[in-house]
Amino acid sequence: MMRRASAAETAAGSTVPDWLETLLSTRFFLACAAHPDSPRNECNMFCLDCRSPPAPAPAFCYYCRSHRHAAHRVIQIRRSSYHDVVRVAEVEDALDISGVQTYVINSAKVLFLNERPQPRGAGAAAGKAAASPYNCEICGRALLDPFRFCSLGCKVPLLCFLLDP
Ligand SMILES: [Zn+2]
Ligand SMILES: [Zn+2]
Ligand SMILES: [Zn+2]
Repeated sequence: MMRRASAAETAAGSTVPDWLETLLSTRFFLACAAHPDSPRNECNMFCLDCRSPPAPAPAFCYYCRSHRHAAHRVIQIRRSSYHDVVRVAEVEDALDISGVQTYVINSAKVLFLNERPQPRGAGAAAGKAAASPYNCEICGRALLDPFRFCSLGCKVPLLCFLLDP
């Protein structure tokens, strides 16, 4: 995680923020350990300004946000069919999301954080054989529109590869 930070910060154009890998590997929607008895204690928030480390917990709840991240850029993770999504409007300024398939869910444009498991028996090969003319370049998932990736998770390895000397 740390090893790519300097390259990402100095690279021009498509940069990989140092919080991105943390975002993609964090488990959201667990109950907050600091607020076990509160009604809105699902950890579905992520801070772009607290670096990890030393950020104590990458995912935090509504109450943690108001206590510790009030002045920070915080994005909210949402769920669609048990998969984590984020609204395009919340990340597009902080992240290059070009090439990633977006979906409209509850009238907001969202994108998936990670690749989703494919239907039974499907792999990259089966995905490519699907009816859609567009497929994710990494996992082969059929896409609705002419994008290159199904999710941020499929785009990031390619970005990191390009940044490595
Ligand atoms: Zn909390
Ligand atoms: Zn913060
Ligand atoms: Zn993919």
